[in-house]
Amino acid sequence: MTSGRYQPASSGPVPRPASRGAADTRDDGPVSTEPTHAAPSEDPPADGRDEVVGICQDLIRIPSVNRGDGSGPGERAAAEYVAGLLAEVGLQPEVFESAPGRASVVARWEGADPGRDGLLVHGHTDVVPADAADWKVDPFSGELLDDCVWGRGAVDMKDMDAMVLAVVRARVRAGRPPARPVVLAFTADEEAGSALGAGYLVDHHRDLFDGCTEGISEVGGFSVTLDNDRRLYLVQSAEKGIAWLRLKATGVAGHGSMIQRDNAVSTLARAVTALAGHRWPLTLTPTVRELLTSLADLLEVTVDFDDEEAVRALVARLGPLSRMVGATLTHTLNPTMLQAGYKANVVPAQATATLDGRFLPGGERDFLDTVDRLLPPGVVRETIHSDVAVEEPWTEQLGSGGLVDTMIACLTDADPEATVLPYTMSGGTDGKVFSRLGIASYGFAPLQLPPGLDFSGMFHGIDERVPVDALRFGVGVLDSFFDRA
Ligand SMILES: [Zn+2]
Repeated sequence: MTSGRYQPASSGPVPRPASRGAADTRDDGPVSTEPTHAAPSEDPPADGRDEVVGICQDLIRIPSVNRGDGSGPGERAAAEYVAGLLAEVGLQPEVFESAPGRASVVARWEGADPGRDGLLVHGHTDVVPADAADWKVDPFSGELLDDCVWGRGAVDMKDMDAMVLAVVRARVRAGRPPARPVVLAFTADEEAGSALGAGYLVDHHRDLFDGCTEGISEVGGFSVTLDNDRRLYLVQSAEKGIAWLRLKATGVAGHGSMIQRDNAVSTLARAVTALAGHRWPLTLTPTVRELLTSLADLLEVTVDFDDEEAVRALVARLGPLSRMVGATLTHTLNPTMLQAGYKANVVPAQATATLDGRFLPGGERDFLDTVDRLLPPGVVRETIHSDVAVEEPWTEQLGSGGLVDTMIACLTDADPEATVLPYTMSGGTDGKVFSRLGIASYGFAPLQLPPGLDFSGMFHGIDERVPVDALRFGVGVLDSFFDRA
């Protein structure tokens, strides 16, 4: 394992990725010294808006694919690239490798008031795989098309990585420190549970985050245009918890031609049917209730929050985002894998199923108790992976002058039409890991998106892309955020 302060491999320009296959040479340091991206067509001011598009393209061209089984190229090339950008302006990034090729970057950026609590700004550099055959463009091309940057990671989350890098570089060059100390972390392995990225840093180098009390990262701060043209910005202030479960049914093995009453396969099938068919009761957490109450106000409708059908009809007015928000009204549990048997005429002694459970903040015990109650005799449950749910109070913080007020102010200054509301994420992010250090992490990657763009559908989806204007909007918001946070 290697880690340490980043040393540029040469005194030449910042390493830039080759257009494809950059990770194949990841151990040899910088993969190319030639910028490969086209210069943006206009000439935006040098406050980060000039660089953000090129950096986003460069990052997409580094295929830091994480398949979750260690077969990918790793994040080393992306880490070298990020460290190079930070070192070039005078910060002192350190690269940490948790396993060969699995590299994260951390840098401190001194605040105007060094005595204040630190702010963690974190983004992962890995991406999920993409099958080029399904895409309109090469998913690792970073192509500019229809005023968007296209490619795997364009919204998850090389967009935010690029916005942060562009703003930080512009501010460091201009001698404009953030209001409070900032720790920048670009992590590996978020797409496979964070163990080799944020998890490794928190377990082995927790001093890096000393003094940090709050953080910002992905999947929040983006706009949603309602059917009455009102524009919302949803900041992520809560995440559901994760409970990946394995069910094991045990029976009596025997010949498939005989009467076999104690059949593990049919017992397991009953268990899976019972769990998959369970209707989880509507449970509105404080964050969801805040979102839905404000949404009803904006839409000028009255909704009975005890009536699930009415609540779901309200959520549907969020358009494509209703799939994510709809999954935060209850616990959820989906069967995802089944294994049993090895021959058509042999009844196996054991059958197993894997289920992806997501529980609401505060609801882990209730969720697991319900699962256990639904299981038929002869089936045992084990947890194969679990992670906490998090929920930061929102309403309570309004008007306190804290980070929530700052995020709202930055968005409403940039977009006077904005209404900023909290939401709960149905999935998980590195924010869960950093919550172990007591850091309150928010999804705040500001993007003003055109109406009708299925933003949440592009996460891990095909034709992932981010509008150039949205990136530049985000740079402006983050720039003012660093002044005011
Ligand atoms: Zn992500």
